[in-house]
Amino acid sequence: WDEGTVAVVTGSNKGIGFEIARTLAEQGLTTVVTARNEDLGKQAVAKIKEAAPSSRLLFHQLDISDPASIDRFVDWFRSEVGGLTVLVNNAGFAYKGNTFGADEAQVTLGINFLGTRALTDKLVPLLKGPARIVNVSSRAGLRSIVKSPQLLGRLTSAQSPQQLEEMAAEFVEAIRAGKHAAEGWPNSMYGISKLLLSLWTAQLAEQLRDQRVMVNAMCPGWCRTDMSSQSGTKSAAEGADTAVWLALRSPDDFTTGGFWGERSPISW
Ligand code: NDP
Repeated sequence: WDEGTVAVVTGSNKGIGFEIARTLAEQGLTTVVTARNEDLGKQAVAKIKEAAPSSRLLFHQLDISDPASIDRFVDWFRSEVGGLTVLVNNAGFAYKGNTFGADEAQVTLGINFLGTRALTDKLVPLLKGPARIVNVSSRAGLRSIVKSPQLLGRLTSAQSPQQLEEMAAEFVEAIRAGKHAAEGWPNSMYGISKLLLSLWTAQLAEQLRDQRVMVNAMCPGWCRTDMSSQSGTKSAAEGADTAVWLALRSPDDFTTGGFWGERSPISW
């Protein structure tokens, strides 16, 4: 990979995102590490640099739930870097334990779905082909988590990101009104945020198909990171594998709009 091949990885100060950034940098891509906490992000860059001294690394602060942070990041990227070949939307969040509520759902959706979408929308014009977008989703967001066929039908037939955003708002308001279960929503804020992320991934893939941009979602599997309180059957590096594989996929092997795990399609 030459210097002009640039990858951006969100939430790459630790966990799976760190391993994705480390591997892409080791493969020779110019890799932009991003983190909402500047110190933690810079420490991550130093760690990768130590392991791979010849890697080309950049850092910029980025909180995907903060529109001002997204704007600062995109302005910096446009003027200092220019074009983007690989975007890995890894940043994600889940409350621990049984925490559940409308405000908490808003926070969860605001990062995993709405924040990811807001950043991606602003970076799409900077993509230079043959580009790849990888969205780190989860099997926690399989379609089967929605038990009501009517509700699932509305979710899966949404034609635009705006419609998906309306469904996200509907979920939050249903929780606030104490009727989310009666309306067929599950008790998983994280699951709905990832289901919406995967549904939107498929929409974006169609939108960018003519530009030959590959857009795919993936599940890393159950990994030992802070999100899982270090439980899990895989290391963070193992969880990063399929994301890196999709990020480096050759345009000759064009595949888009899929949901992947362990380098294989997942039926979701
Ligand atoms: P970690 O909690 O270790 O890492 C999450 C990363 O996302 C951190 O860098 C965190 O930053 C960052 N982040 C959170 N919120 C924001 C935000 N608003 N803006 C920017 N960055 C943010 O978790 P994992 O490494 O396990 O998770 C990585 C991805 O993998 C997530 O999308 C997660 O949902 C997904 N996933 C993980 C599984 C697992 O078993 N671990 C299973 C399935 C999916 P900070 O350090 O500041 O908190």
